[in-house]
Amino acid sequence: MNVTFRCPHCDQIGQAEFDPATRELACPNCPAKWPVCEGAVAGDELRQCLVCPSTELYIRKDFSQTLGVAIVALGFVISSVFWYYRMPLWTYGVLFATALIDVVLYLVVGNLLQCYRCQAQYRGVAGLAHHGGFDLETHEKHRQQKIRLAEQAAEQEQARGTDQRASSV
Ligand SMILES: [Zn+2]
Ligand SMILES: [Zn+2]
Repeated sequence: MNVTFRCPHCDQIGQAEFDPATRELACPNCPAKWPVCEGAVAGDELRQCLVCPSTELYIRKDFSQTLGVAIVALGFVISSVFWYYRMPLWTYGVLFATALIDVVLYLVVGNLLQCYRCQAQYRGVAGLAHHGGFDLETHEKHRQQKIRLAEQAAEQEQARGTDQRASSV
């Protein structure tokens, strides 16, 4: 099992392997380390996020949207060339083929588990069935929470700035 996550300390994307015996998760890009909650990994299953300890995770296809769009865009460019040389069958053929590649890719890729709160992605985890699919309400809840936290941090920062100015006078 492995997790791809944005490190809360250095903000870089990193990857780490884990198993039920893992007691600590470390960032591969900086010296940051944090403990893994007891019972977070039960057998091959994941009960909660190892990065931000949220218990809300959802299943999604392990399919990069960027790749999907890139394939379609490439198909469009190639078909335009055929269109330019007045080869309509090839034009439509290429468009159809790239759309088909997208569909097939989408169908063959496996599922992954993603954390609503910190967007960490878990691969190779079993028992995905008891985590639901994407739920907009839960997503919105975490998004609002993030905005509130950011506002709080900004207010604290501002308050500290005022304090410093007051003390320097
Ligand atoms: Zn880091
Ligand atoms: Zn998380």
